[in-house]
Amino acid sequence: MSKPVPAPVNPETAPYAAALREGRLLIKVCAACGESHFYPRALCPFCFSDRTEWREASGRGAIYAVSILRAAGAASALAYVTLAEGPRMMTSIVDCDPLALAVDTPVRLVIRPGADGTLAPMFTPMFTSAPAGGGQ
Ligand SMILES: [Zn+2]
Repeated sequence: MSKPVPAPVNPETAPYAAALREGRLLIKVCAACGESHFYPRALCPFCFSDRTEWREASGRGAIYAVSILRAAGAASALAYVTLAEGPRMMTSIVDCDPLALAVDTPVRLVIRPGADGTLAPMFTPMFTSAPAGGGQ
C-alpha cells in the first residue's frame, strides 16, 4: 500500500488547513453580498467579489441528505450537511450507527483524518439525552 499523499496546501487555503489542526472549521463570508460559502474560495461564488473574509463556523449543522455506503460488512455515512451559517458541504458522519441517521438530524463538527490522511471536517449526531416524555 502506498502512503497517503497530503492534499496540496496553497496560500488561499492555508488558514483553513491551519484552523483544522486547531480543531476549528473556517468558512468564508463575502463582505460585498453577505453570503457565506464552503469550500473556501478567494472569489465569492455568488457575486465574484474578492472581498471574502474568514469566519469560524459554529460547528453546528443538520443533515440535508445522507447516503449509506456498505462495504465488507461495515457501513459508513456520506452526507450533505447544512451548516448553521448556511453553506452546505459534503462530509462524512462518524461515531454513530449510520442506519440511525435521517434527514434533519442535528450534527456537530468533529475533525478527523480523511481518506488521504489530511484532516477533514466530519460530523457526528447530537442525539439528545432528554428524559422520555419530558419537554421544554
Ligand atoms: Zn459575494
